[in-house]
Order: sequence, then structure tokens, then C-alpha cells
Amino acid sequence: MAMLARAYSHAPRPGAERHACLRVSVVPSKLESLKATRGPEDPFRVHSRECAASRMTSESLDGAELERTVAEQQLVILCQCGSALSLVSTGAPLVCRTCGRSYDWTDGVLMLSPTADPDGYPEELSTLLAEVEPRHFWFAERNRLIVTTMRRALGSLAGRSVLDIGCGTGFVTAALEKDGMRPCGLDMNLAGLRVARQRMNGLLVCHDAASVPFRQQFDVATLFDVIEHVDDDLRVLGEARAALRHGGAVVVTVPAHASLWTPTDDASGHKRRYTQATLRRALADSGFELLYLRYFNALLLPLQLLQRRLVGRRQSSTPEGRVALVKDALRVPPTWLNTLLELAMRADLPLGRLPGTFGASLIAVARRV
Ligand SMILES: [Zn+2]
Repeated sequence: MAMLARAYSHAPRPGAERHACLRVSVVPSKLESLKATRGPEDPFRVHSRECAASRMTSESLDGAELERTVAEQQLVILCQCGSALSLVSTGAPLVCRTCGRSYDWTDGVLMLSPTADPDGYPEELSTLLAEVEPRHFWFAERNRLIVTTMRRALGSLAGRSVLDIGCGTGFVTAALEKDGMRPCGLDMNLAGLRVARQRMNGLLVCHDAASVPFRQQFDVATLFDVIEHVDDDLRVLGEARAALRHGGAVVVTVPAHASLWTPTDDASGHKRRYTQATLRRALADSGFELLYLRYFNALLLPLQLLQRRLVGRRQSSTPEGRVALVKDALRVPPTWLNTLLELAMRADLPLGRLPGTFGASLIAVARRV
């Protein structure tokens, strides 16, 4: 399903070669003018089409809003040497006085790891996601479920700081910002971060999730479809914990049940699917106290079982073949089916109040102890 494709953006792939960036940043004012002249068409659809031709670059990115937000966030970033660097401006590189390292900005993204782009994740998928996310039932409904669950477990989200680790194209991060949170997005894929830059004002950092460059600063840390991609999930959970203030909370979503494994899991770079028991254990072993845990997507489960039969053993060992599999999973269904599946996902919210709900995904909220 589509979630697998989104999640593809997070996993580092050791040894993968760096690939050339397709520079597709876009100016908000340009988006607005495109919307105005073309009516209600999805601006990101327009963006991907127009931008591919015009190759707009960062020179014209309006940084005033970012500058204001970064100043408000007052974040302290860990240099690779371990020194703490105060981030106060987006107008100049961040320089470490201890070791002399300098971290620059690219298209409104702080490049803490200038080499943090070589995970084999093709830019074309980031562009495709930018177009698909606002229209595909999975993404909008997952946002609704995440925000509702977080409110249910944590109370009001307004004003709370949140670090979205593995934020991808920032679709969820932007929804959290709209809900009043003060987000920071972290991902190693610059193409995805460029899309995120157009969706939200908070700080975006290009860096590996395996070593989060923040300590004890956030009220909430989120890992949406991330930890199933990494060999050492406890390490990533531990890094999320380290970024939290005492008493802060982590929110995690993961695919559920090894029995639902399809070649799309392989293509997406998944290492495992979880059960309630394995996710509960991983959180406990990482120093969290569980507040909320449940399966979701109960009504999508039969479809996933069907998909498993249909996709069968359609394996692919080539990068192109894997991209094709992920693209297939990202295809927006016909309108009637998209609406039907959206309703099926929405039905999950009331179902989630019932004990023992089964489902194709898991969501957990846990507190740092
Ligand atoms: Zn340093």
C-alpha cells in the first residue's frame, strides 16, 4: 500500500551511490500565481510539471518566514564534534567555534550532513509523492488518525515542539504545524525536504535519523513509518528519546504483521513488520513508558491480504524494478474507490475505541522515563 512507498524515503542504504539531484524547489508566490491562473488544480501537480521545465532554484526562495520561525524555535544543534551550536539565523552558515566545521543552507534546508542524500531513494519518487499525497486516501486519513490519536493520548498539541524524524516530504509534519505544533523535520533525503520546505515554516534539517543532532529539546518526537526501515530500531528510538525533554513523548507508526509481507515491503526497504508485542518491547527497551498502543486500518486488512495474493512473488532485484513496485503502490485509485477507501480508514477511529482491534498498521504513543 501507499504507506510503504512513503516510508521508502527514510532508510539509509549503506554503500548506495550518491545520485545527482533534480533541483525542483519552488517559490510559494509562484505556487499562488499558478493556483490563481489555473483554478483549484493541485498546486504540487502544477509544480512538478512546470518546475521540471523551468528548474527554479533556491535564489528566489523567500526566507523571511523561515528566519522568523527559526529565531522563535531557539534550537541548539549538536555539531559532529559534540559541541552545542545555537541556531539563531538562516542568513549565514552555522559555524562551530570548537572544530571549525561549517553547515550551510540549501533551499531553506540546514545541511548538517552534506552527504546525507545517497540513500538510493530516487528524486522522482519525492516529486511523485508531492503530487500524490494531497489526493491519495491513505495520506490524508493517516494524518487525521495521527493527529486524533496524539490529541487523545497527549491532550492539546498547540504550542508544543515536535521533532519529526524521517519527515520525508513533510506531509504529516505540515499537518502537525497546522494543528498548532512547532515542528522541526529531519530527513536524509534532500529532494523530500525540498518538497517539505514548501509545505511548512519550521526548521528542516538534512541528517541521518540514526544520530539525531538534538538533546532534550522537544516535547514530542515522531517516527512515522521509519523504524521498520533500519537494522537497529532501538538505536533510532534511543535517539528520539535523547531529543526529548524529560516527560516528553514519542509517537510511532509501523506496518503490522509479518504475514502481510509483500515484495513492496522489500522494495520499500523494510526490515520487519511489527506486532503489538514487538513494538511494546522495543519501546520499553528504549526507555519509554507506553501510553497508547493499537492496531489501525482494520478495514484495509482484507485488501492487503488480497494485494498479497495478487502481487504474489513479483520480486525485483534491480533498482528500477523496485521503483516501479513502489510507484505501483502510490497510484491514486479511481475517485469512487479512493472515496470508499477513505471512508474505510475513517471508520477506524471509532473502531479504535474497541478493545482487541486488529489492523494492518500500528500506532503507539509512549512517554520518556
Ligand atoms: Zn564542532
